[in-house]
Amino acid sequence: MERKCPQCKTWNSSNKYCTICKQPLDPQLIRELASKNREQENANKPLDRIDMFHNKMKHSRFLIVRIFYTIIYSIWISFVALMSFFMWMTAAGPG
Ligand SMILES: [Zn+2]
Repeated sequence: MERKCPQCKTWNSSNKYCTICKQPLDPQLIRELASKNREQENANKPLDRIDMFHNKMKHSRFLIVRIFYTIIYSIWISFVALMSFFMWMTAAGPG
């Protein structure tokens, strides 16, 4: 059974790889390689920028930064809670 290389269009006789450009030809092999690539991409994925920011603030060398972060963070959390409460009030209220 011959397989045509999708890259260089060469016909290869029952090879898993193209003899010319080393492109994988076996469908199962291609699938395996693709999933392996995806795993690697996930492993190399950098931390979310927001997560990185939080980590940096939380583990700062400076006490003032950590205090500042804690204050801002609690204000932000209560602000979000308040906003969602108001949203809920407007949605639940008449009119
Ligand atoms: Zn090829």
